[in-house]
Amino acid sequence: MSTNFASGAAVRMQIELPAAVVRVRSAQLLASPSAATLRAERFSFYYGAFQALHDVSIDIYRHRITALIGPSGCGKSTFLRAMNRMGDTIPKTRATGRLSLDGASVAELQATDLRRRVGMVFQRPNPFPKSIYENIAYGLRIGGMRNKTTIADAVEKSLRRAALWSEVKDKLQEPAFALSGGQQQRLCIARALAVEPEVLLLDEPCSALDPIATAKVEETVWNLRDECTTVIVTHNLQQAARLADYTAFFLMGRLIEFSPTESLLLRPQQPSTQDYVTGRLG
Ligand code: ADP
Repeated sequence: MSTNFASGAAVRMQIELPAAVVRVRSAQLLASPSAATLRAERFSFYYGAFQALHDVSIDIYRHRITALIGPSGCGKSTFLRAMNRMGDTIPKTRATGRLSLDGASVAELQATDLRRRVGMVFQRPNPFPKSIYENIAYGLRIGGMRNKTTIADAVEKSLRRAALWSEVKDKLQEPAFALSGGQQQRLCIARALAVEPEVLLLDEPCSALDPIATAKVEETVWNLRDECTTVIVTHNLQQAARLADYTAFFLMGRLIEFSPTESLLLRPQQPSTQDYVTGRLG
């Protein structure tokens, strides 16, 4: 299905929505949103004196894909990092309001437990300087897994979930750096999945990848949607349209609009959202 974006008389952009995606979403998803996994209530975040997020309130629904969009510097990554407290590692930061994971305050969870439950994949693939196998096995051992067969099974399962197994099964002992950029990114997704997170945070995971590698990562993310709650920061509206059940538009540290992706992209309620999706802003 191909849908036009209309802004008054001007049509600035065309978005491709695969028919299967539209079918799945309209049939079962949007009528009855599932429970929130993550919830932000009047959440604000500061770098020193600079307030990067202002009173953000949003529900991230379980086993759905939510895209965060908006111009550069509007706070998308800050909000994503806050969800597993990666911002804690930056000096002189502070947060107000509440972020919760299944009702428990994120601020009060133990950081290692939180990061096991809420995994993260970054903009640039960052495999460890180890073999493909060790990239996944290492974290499992640190997490306490000892049995060699159990570890081998978990490595295979994670690589399969990240749609990488068939490409690497015969070269598991080769260095991860020998993989292509797209394969390295799927290895990072496999590494994040190995500890069975409930939530996967993806910070522009395809921005360093070519279109074919991007398509494979997108397919991987799409296929995880029944098992994992996913939040993806993207500057690519086509990607949000292809992948996300829900989309949130941020501007200057504020959440401007949040709704099912088709509504937000095709029928934005706020003038600034309209400006952004039609290419007049950002
Ligand atoms: P986005 O992901 O939308 O591009 P960011 O969350 O990266 O936006 O940044 C939001 C704002 O916070 C920007 O003004 C940025 O300069 C600022 N910021 C981000 N990271 C830091 C940091 N480590 N220290 C100080 N300011 C930061």
